[in-house]
Amino acid sequence: MISRKQYESARKRAVDLFARSGITVRPDELDRIEVLDFGLGEIERTGLQVLPRLGTGAIAVRLVALLPGQTCPQHRHPSQGSYAGKEETWRCEWGDLYVYMAGPGTASPRASLLSHRRKHYTVWNETVLRPGDQHTSPPQNWHWFQAGPEGAVVWLFCSRTTDAKDEFADPEVDRMAPVVEP
Ligand code: ZN
Repeated sequence: MISRKQYESARKRAVDLFARSGITVRPDELDRIEVLDFGLGEIERTGLQVLPRLGTGAIAVRLVALLPGQTCPQHRHPSQGSYAGKEETWRCEWGDLYVYMAGPGTASPRASLLSHRRKHYTVWNETVLRPGDQHTSPPQNWHWFQAGPEGAVVWLFCSRTTDAKDEFADPEVDRMAPVVEP
């Protein structure tokens, strides 16, 4: 959990990142930015600022701002019944994004992690996305991502989202935990 002040600061910085990216976002839409800290209270290093753009029973589109070096922790989207699980595509709009998935580990990965979290990150095949680059993770595939030193603005194009069912590698992560101190 984070303080109201930290929450508002993260929100404000996301607004600034969206502005720097040049993407058109209406002022009333900026009020809908969600700050996620995944229950860890380390918003500068682990978290996301999310602006939902579209969510139907079939697809979801989100515009995400990441603070410099901020990480979305390692997770996967499991199958449920006949649904194979969420497929996820990142398209970088501004800044750099480092995406990690299963595969041969990258020798000198660009991402840096808090030392007490590192053991929960086990997939190290790195793809660097710069503006205009995109990359897709198939369902059920472990993945995580981190912004470069300037932060990043990224589109997420996904099949149906079931956030509460996401599986995280770090047992301390709680995707649905309340974010702001009451
Ligand atoms: Zn994901």
